Amino acid sequence: MFQRILIANRGEIALRIIRACRSLGVSPVCVYSVADKDGPWIEQADESICIGAAASKESYLRIERLIAAAEVTGADAIHPGYGFLSENAHFAEVCRDCNITFIGPSPEAMGLLGDKINCKRLARQSGTPVFPGTEGGIEDIDEAAKIAKEIGYPVIVKAAAGGGGRGMRVARDEVSLREGVGSAKQEALAAFGNGTVYVEKYLENARHFEVQTIGDRHGHAVHLYERDCSSQRRHQKLVEEAPSPGVDPRKRDRVCESAAELIKQAKYCGAATVEFLMDQKQEFFMLEVNTRVQVEHPVTEMITGIDIVQTQIRVAAGEPLPFSQKDIKPTGHAIEVRINAEDPNRGFMPQAGLIEVFTVPGGPGVRLDTHARAGYRIPSNYDSMIGKLIVHGPTRDAAIARMRQALKEFRIGPIHTTIPLHQRIMEHPEFTGANMDIHWVERWLKATG
Ligand code: ADP
Repeated sequence: MFQRILIANRGEIALRIIRACRSLGVSPVCVYSVADKDGPWIEQADESICIGAAASKESYLRIERLIAAAEVTGADAIHPGYGFLSENAHFAEVCRDCNITFIGPSPEAMGLLGDKINCKRLARQSGTPVFPGTEGGIEDIDEAAKIAKEIGYPVIVKAAAGGGGRGMRVARDEVSLREGVGSAKQEALAAFGNGTVYVEKYLENARHFEVQTIGDRHGHAVHLYERDCSSQRRHQKLVEEAPSPGVDPRKRDRVCESAAELIKQAKYCGAATVEFLMDQKQEFFMLEVNTRVQVEHPVTEMITGIDIVQTQIRVAAGEPLPFSQKDIKPTGHAIEVRINAEDPNRGFMPQAGLIEVFTVPGGPGVRLDTHARAGYRIPSNYDSMIGKLIVHGPTRDAAIARMRQALKEFRIGPIHTTIPLHQRIMEHPEFTGANMDIHWVERWLKATG
């Protein structure tokens, strides 16, 4: 096991990693930017180092400073959390060159799965269902138009190196396809330095279904079942739950097994999420693989009883997975809501500033992952998420009831948060009846102004 782990992140995930370190008897080290010098999570670390100015580019994204901080503090591993450098293959490579273990996949596995075209190719080989579309990047626009006609419009043009929704264009006819390929290429080239784009079928009213997987260095890979994250706004997940309600257990098992097989084929060590869209007939199509721990990992922890972050650290240290597929038996239902410092009544405007009131919910089956507290000043430089409220109950209805009460107990002020929005979601028939698709929240918000 490692002696010390440097956490190349901030906020709630930094605190989550500190907790996992403590459970393993490992010493956690934090880095922080000037804007985070009073971050409440920092005092939980054994040591901390300031690595630069508020802007992420000057601190959390500075590879050489992170490596220097690890060397100065004697850390033998780095946990990247999510966001920032967590899916940066170059960072993983630099860590390896400096003899520091990157807690995540090898740069090779990350590169293979991070390129959407390569990932799709590997998925086809391992029996993971993918969208019909072009085999590889578009070389010839006439060929792409022919394939689009075969699979039928609408289609979507996507960037091989894509991320954050950039380099994507939906096309409903050949004219917009030809236009979309050109503009998506340009956008992808500017954003990722790689203009390769491909075409696949566009699914209109899909549900978001993702499989949590984890692999070790000894050739084992398992899945920890799935999460449904269909309640989204601008492609940002708002609510996540596990299991995905109403899915045929046989279909679910098949797709979960295929996801585990995919990461096994990629010789993947660490946690990965294989994301899918599911249509009304419960057919699955892979979207992409995220090669890091996800924000919404706690819902899976709640139903499986497995500590995902602790397991990431164990497998990175070379231990075999401490469980096999047959040991994983999900129980009950878990729901997570993201508490963002945003004002839902004013176009989700981000809220920075002092938290004066912070009264937290509790009781059986309630978990709160947050770095915030009364007296904490939210900086304006980073993501607006200040916490995640997670509940677990024997059934989905029981979990919803717990979430309603937990949200009622949760008081944050004077800054605005997404708590009132979540209270409305928990009452909405589209959600309570599990009739969500990935556009339902936006449709509803538009309709209610
Ligand atoms: P990124 O890496 O940029 O986030 P994804 O491949 O995850 O790109 O796609 C982002 C979002 O775009 C998805 O969550 C989904 O809402 C939408 N999307 C992507 N591909 C399709 C598709 N084939 N059909 C319908 N929606 C899609």
